[in-house]
Amino acid sequence: MNIANIIRGIGNRASGFYPQGLVARVLAPVALAMGASSCQILSDFNTFSPAQDVQMGEQAYGEILAGETTIGSGGQYNQVVRVTQNLVNAAQVVSPDLAGLFKWQVSLIDSPGTVNAFCLPGGKMAVYTGILSVAQSDAGLAVVMGHEIAHALERHGTSAVSKQMVLQYGSVIAAGAILGGEGTDSEMAGMAIALATSLTTLQFGRSAEYEADLVGLEIMARAGYDPREAVGYRQRMDALGGAAGPEWLSTHPSNANRIRQIQEALPGVIPLYEAAR
Ligand SMILES: [Zn+2]
Repeated sequence: MNIANIIRGIGNRASGFYPQGLVARVLAPVALAMGASSCQILSDFNTFSPAQDVQMGEQAYGEILAGETTIGSGGQYNQVVRVTQNLVNAAQVVSPDLAGLFKWQVSLIDSPGTVNAFCLPGGKMAVYTGILSVAQSDAGLAVVMGHEIAHALERHGTSAVSKQMVLQYGSVIAAGAILGGEGTDSEMAGMAIALATSLTTLQFGRSAEYEADLVGLEIMARAGYDPREAVGYRQRMDALGGAAGPEWLSTHPSNANRIRQIQEALPGVIPLYEAAR
């Protein structure tokens, strides 16, 4: 199933793709949320089902990996598999329903210059080799991947795509109204490509990053990795930062603020770590 069919499925699942059903179902709740001035309501806004998280994530994963060289053996690969497996086991405790539904998988991408990692909606993960030297240890890698897994469990990806859909569908609805008909296949294909691309370039926003830090701390602690390592990891990332750092860092909250929040949260998660050791 490709993204275009998934998007069509979303339309079919509700009361019709164009235009009234979508306006009522998608635009109205957003307007309501904005009217209520509640960031929390808006941050939880999501037009996708968890099963669609899995479908969209698998589709995007295939597209990403098709352009990369992966490593399937050796010490680094074994470390990545070991750490993520322990974290996924802990995720089953933190969020059993979603973690049980997700199709967890990890790849190691051979890219020494890329200091990055991700977990797509639905549990498909990748670690770029460039982040391993910043992680330095299993616990450091657990900081990285605990945070990324938290994004997936909190469904930040499809929540962000949902908000983009409101904007993109809004323009298609307008075009459809002018033409007096439904959107064309090329319009649909264009949206599908935009959505697939957005899954890999999403900026979740600061509140989502702070939330992922906290949930990630719990996941790593429950997996038996010392959550205090999150402070050292953030300091190392901070040292990479500024204009010389990877571009994606600039979309994140400041490391100083993140470290402050992590330190405040540590007393709550250290007992989980000590119980899990
Ligand atoms: Zn993040």
